[in-house]
Amino acid sequence: NEKLIVLDDVCKHFKVSGGMLKAVDHISLDIYKGETLGLVGESGCGKSTLGRVAMGIYPATSGKLYYAGEELNLKNAATRFKYAKKAQIIFQDPYASLDPRMTVSSIIEEGMVIHGMYDAKRRQERVYELLELVGLNKEHANRFPHEFSGGQRQRIGIARALAIEPEFIVCDEPISALDVSIQSQIINLLHDLQQQLGLTFLFIAHDLNIVKYISDRIAVMYLGNVVELASSDDLYAHTLHPYSKALLSAVPIPDPSAEAQKHRQILSGDVPSPINTPKGCNFAGRCPVACDKCRESKPQLREIRPGHFCACHLVEPEI
Ligand code: SF4
Ligand code: MG
Repeated sequence: NEKLIVLDDVCKHFKVSGGMLKAVDHISLDIYKGETLGLVGESGCGKSTLGRVAMGIYPATSGKLYYAGEELNLKNAATRFKYAKKAQIIFQDPYASLDPRMTVSSIIEEGMVIHGMYDAKRRQERVYELLELVGLNKEHANRFPHEFSGGQRQRIGIARALAIEPEFIVCDEPISALDVSIQSQIINLLHDLQQQLGLTFLFIAHDLNIVKYISDRIAVMYLGNVVELASSDDLYAHTLHPYSKALLSAVPIPDPSAEAQKHRQILSGDVPSPINTPKGCNFAGRCPVACDKCRESKPQLREIRPGHFCACHLVEPEI
């Protein structure tokens, strides 16, 4: 399998009042060409930040980012611009992420203009093709975002992301803000497009149920660290990390609406803060099986079963 993106010991730390927020803390992760890598964790765990680091919007505090075998120096504006053509993002909130003063056509066309793609006539044709591709049509091109429903707006956001023919797309909780009734439509659309266009996805979600269907592999994040990484099947069949187990036990509800979310507080312990995380395991304060060692030293991600990684002192390699 060809690696499209390699994150090598990447950190993204922010100085905040009260200390250092380690949104992404020493993460190494490969994303293979043509796969969907699911990235799951509670809000505030750093998954959106990691997505933005992977697509070059946030230069890492330390560590390296490789794209198609080449190390990217994102301090260089030309490199950033070149990479921006390869990597795109679909945002969580289709209401906030589309400029209300622009027509659908100009929203979708903008990236092509910036990257000097095609002449005006061909760009217009591409806009129509992209609208069809996402389940809309050319009649929608001259309208404004407020004339559309949430699901339709997300389709416009998807068309915009696809317009410059990227290879890699970060889907940052693309259905969380949508009505439950249309969530599966958007998931299916993304899945179809990924297959059809041979795209590579980093698919961010807070719910393991959502990523199960769409992901080849899944990474579980907790307070800035990847704590478990496995193929989708193996993660569900042999869940290893206590946090992943808690996440799974917390999602018996097929209804991911806001109302249902309120009732899934199964994890106990202090609400963790990503600021000044503890010296030992970040999960120690909430882990039902934590021991002294957990409070002393940080567990590293180790391969436990073939292709299945876990960062927990109590999970010993089987291989
Ligand atoms: Fe729990 Fe310790 Fe494993 Fe952390 S290292 S998940 S605290 S058992
Ligand atoms: Mg987020």
